[in-house]
Amino acid sequence: MYRLLTTMALYAFAALLLPCFTAAQTEAPLKRFAFSHPQMGTLFNISLYAADSTQARKAADAAKARIDEINNSMSDYMPTSELSKLSLTSGSKKAVTVSEPLWLVLSASQELAVQTKGAFDVTVGALSKVWRKAIRQKTMPAKSEISTARKSVGYKKMQLNAADKSVQLNAPNMQLDLGAIAKGYALDEALKAIEQHQVSRALIQGGGDLVAGDAPPGQPGWQIFAKWVTPQGQLRDTLLQVKRCAVATSGALYRFLESDGKRFSHIIDPRTGMGVTHAAMVSVQAPTAMQADALATAISVMGPRKGFAWLQKNYKAIPAIVTFQEKGKPVQLGKLRE
Ligand code: AMP
Ligand code: MG
Repeated sequence: MYRLLTTMALYAFAALLLPCFTAAQTEAPLKRFAFSHPQMGTLFNISLYAADSTQARKAADAAKARIDEINNSMSDYMPTSELSKLSLTSGSKKAVTVSEPLWLVLSASQELAVQTKGAFDVTVGALSKVWRKAIRQKTMPAKSEISTARKSVGYKKMQLNAADKSVQLNAPNMQLDLGAIAKGYALDEALKAIEQHQVSRALIQGGGDLVAGDAPPGQPGWQIFAKWVTPQGQLRDTLLQVKRCAVATSGALYRFLESDGKRFSHIIDPRTGMGVTHAAMVSVQAPTAMQADALATAISVMGPRKGFAWLQKNYKAIPAIVTFQEKGKPVQLGKLRE
């Protein structure tokens, strides 16, 4: 979604570094391979180290297939997806048993909805459609459109039954939208698929999110190069070396509607029905990309200061960096960890 976060894998001076790493001396020499895969409205980029091109291709193909499977289940753009079919049952008083992956993502979403008192809410779909159209047409939505959509939004109207992993949507026209979390889940699953092919040194990016497996041979981590544009248009770079963690970025930089001097984002506050207007950029570093993705959006909804304070209180061990504008000046809170 955001093309700001780009990565550069370091071409290490292996000959110089190898003597420091005894494990590397016993391993077959690994080569770096790169693949890309368009899906979920973005481009997934896979970098990995494998013994040869056959192993690399098999691992990458498994990752691509897994990303496609998750999209087929969780896309709200595809009318045939499991998620869209579930949304169609809303208001019918029927509970529908869902697949294991969809259950896992919906349960994690619901847990965060409770924790954030509805700032993060995947039942936001009806409002997402209103704002997507508004952004596309560059026209503010009518108040009546927003109030109608709000009737179909609210995490308390989504009932999850753990006993049979079923979901009941208790208002008509509810539309689930996993746009804030499914990409992260897909990244985690893509890494697992790669690891099943005995490849552990991999980095996968999808839009502004990434997940890192083990570090490249002889290196402490994958070098990720985070580019930041402040609301004033200044470019900032953060260089990090990461392994076995995920970083997700959320923000309103590209997708917004300008009206009356305000920028209304595609990120919506479900409690008001309005696109958020603070234009903050939020990056969260977490053990899984699903968690990083969801938390980054949650902070975006709560607003930069409130959201960052909330994270520090509720997720002490999870680093985040938040950039925004306050009284005409760019402000940055927090930092990511190497
Ligand atoms: P992200 O880029 O991960 O921050 O996700 C943004 C997307 O999440 C939007 O384009 C919507 O599809 C969806 N979304 C918008 N507002 C919310 C919200 N309050 N809670 C959960 N998902 C949201
Ligand atoms: Mg997100």
